[in-house]
Amino acid sequence: MHYHCEIWLPEVLNYSDATYKVERMLQNYHEESKRGFYDWYVIGGRYTGSHDNYNPQDDIKNITLCSICNGKGIRDNPPPSPALRGCNGCSGTGTSTKYSYVPHSEDVMEQDKVVDDLSCYTLIIAKGRWPKILHDFNDQVKPYLKSENLTGGCLVTVDCHN
Ligand SMILES: [Zn+2]
Repeated sequence: MHYHCEIWLPEVLNYSDATYKVERMLQNYHEESKRGFYDWYVIGGRYTGSHDNYNPQDDIKNITLCSICNGKGIRDNPPPSPALRGCNGCSGTGTSTKYSYVPHSEDVMEQDKVVDDLSCYTLIIAKGRWPKILHDFNDQVKPYLKSENLTGGCLVTVDCHN
């Protein structure tokens, strides 16, 4: 199952530094270890754009030619049924969305710039030697951080799988 994880880091970091830090932290929690909770993860993934209401399916960088009709919008063989509008891969548009979205830099964002109603399934507070991991969080992230006096820093959107 995929689930939306947000990781709060106390310092403001750029994309590559933040993702490196997240990688170092998460490697202690692969499901082969005692406290493990994932078998795979990617920054962003199906939750990409959660910080800024970006829709990856509207981004030209995620659009590619339909591989079934090679972008023609009409399938040569077998002949398409009218219900499929020429191609069952693209409904005649000639394009399809990439299986893996291109990285979205705003998946690492200063907390202050993140949309106010961000919520997630798992929230990780990556502060101190051991991060605080809140599974089944299912609440709004920013009000919670504020109530814990965790101001500033940045948030990283992670697509986790277990
Ligand atoms: Zn097609």
